[in-house]
Amino acid sequence: MEKFHQDIRKAARMIMQSENAFAFTGAGISVESGIPPFRGENGIWNKYDPKSLDLNYFYSNPLESWAVIKKIFYDFFGEARFNRAHEVLAMMEKQGYLKGVVTQNIDNLHFEAGSRVVHEFHGNMKKLVCTKCHQHFMVHMVSLENLPPSCSYCEGLLKPDFVFFGENIPYEAFTSSFSLAEKADVVIVVGTTGEVVPASHVPLTAKQQGARIIEINMEPSNYTHTHTDVFLKGKASEVLHHLFIAMNHE
Ligand code: NAD
Repeated sequence: MEKFHQDIRKAARMIMQSENAFAFTGAGISVESGIPPFRGENGIWNKYDPKSLDLNYFYSNPLESWAVIKKIFYDFFGEARFNRAHEVLAMMEKQGYLKGVVTQNIDNLHFEAGSRVVHEFHGNMKKLVCTKCHQHFMVHMVSLENLPPSCSYCEGLLKPDFVFFGENIPYEAFTSSFSLAEKADVVIVVGTTGEVVPASHVPLTAKQQGARIIEINMEPSNYTHTHTDVFLKGKASEVLHHLFIAMNHE
């Protein structure tokens, strides 16, 4: 326990002395909000077939795809609320310690917790986009009673505005994320296995430019033994809470 608190104090000093720190987050930060990760024992892909999120499958089988998408993303975790971990990152940004968050998550919870600069590498499930005229809609403005939903302007097929398998990363999020990474001196990596490419290259790029990595996870990840400078083992909300207290009492 003493080692954990020493590491918390070390990480707090690293963040406070940094000039360009940012956070890189994955599914683990939202687990305590009730949203399961994709992989692992309780992962979503243990219950549902990931082909529903394959772009080609979606275009050829929109009804089947949408039935699964609705169940997972809109019935099941549509009502999730941000937790202490999202809140602490928002407060660190407000206090001037973080330049922003690069998130692989699509759940909108960083914005809801008050973060201003959020680069959503894989898009956002709260928005839908027309696959024909590219008009965007907030999902709560669209009825999901009759699937698949269609565009009120051109009747084209609507798709959740997050990245499917086989789809490119949104240009703006991609360039902004790597531009933060190239300037960074500290990255706080929270709740990610580091398995999803190219997102996993964001902290690696920062590390190559000389940034130090503080990692928060319940288990070691692809980064832990090779790239992480300080590993803080535990639940994201608890570890970030301790880190925030340490930063405000240094
Ligand atoms: P992942 O599912 O591969 O791994 C989750 C990681 O979080 C693991 O390393 C696990 O040990 C850790 N973890 C679990 N509970 C934790 C907790 N309470 N505190 C801290 N860490 C915890 O997740 P990934 O690496 O982000 O990759 C999955 C991809 O799936 C992402 O690209 C993301 O787009 C998508 N995804 C998003 C959501 C979401 O929006 N909330 C949910 C599931 C998957």
